Amino acid sequence: MTELLYLSDHYLKEFDAGVVEVPDAKTLVLDRTAMYARGGGQPSDRGKLILEDGVIFDVVESTKSEGKVLHHIGAEIPEDRRSALVGKRVHGVIDWDLRYKHMRHHTALHILSGVVFLKFNARITGGQIYADRARLDLSLADLDKEKQALIEEEMNKVVEDNREVKTLWLDREEALKRSDLYRLSADLLPKGTDKLRIVDIVGFDAQLDGGTHVSRTGEIGRIKISKTENKGKENKRVEIVLI
Ligand SMILES: [Zn+2]
Repeated sequence: MTELLYLSDHYLKEFDAGVVEVPDAKTLVLDRTAMYARGGGQPSDRGKLILEDGVIFDVVESTKSEGKVLHHIGAEIPEDRRSALVGKRVHGVIDWDLRYKHMRHHTALHILSGVVFLKFNARITGGQIYADRARLDLSLADLDKEKQALIEEEMNKVVEDNREVKTLWLDREEALKRSDLYRLSADLLPKGTDKLRIVDIVGFDAQLDGGTHVSRTGEIGRIKISKTENKGKENKRVEIVLI
């Protein structure tokens, strides 16, 4: 298991860890990491892993597999060095500029989904975050200009209120009783865990979630709907940008 340091501290930019496995020439598994492993529509972090002898590995992607985070590195580690790496200490540095953009767009999507849930009872059917935009697919039958203007206005009120964004953990059973907390279908929730993580934009909206967020909505900046698309009779895609 890799301990996911980013679940409790979204602003952790550097960390120390130990190498537990080198499964192939371009992959390292650590005992703990602050590098976000791709999932839930949020892209992976990038960054560097620095060994005590000064050797630097560029991490181009991190992904999850059976409780482990695989740090995919840009260059091949020679076969004779791989086993010697196990047990070594590394210092990790994440590409903060990229991560912070993901955090701001991710939190903006919470506000979008909160607004459409509270105003139109719409749920999320899909979504993706990028460094310069983000989108959600929503169970909405229609989305005219008037509705779009209302959604934009309501989203930016939440930004201007500079609300606190908190994470907390709830017992799985208790969380599943609260259908307002999950906007995705219940069978997409993480399996095999007793506790589920809640991201709460205090006084506005709370959701089950495993990603990284800013701690105050004011950090997001102004949210603008840049594009909408019809994805079926009861399904609309809404793209946002931050300005
Ligand atoms: Zn989230």
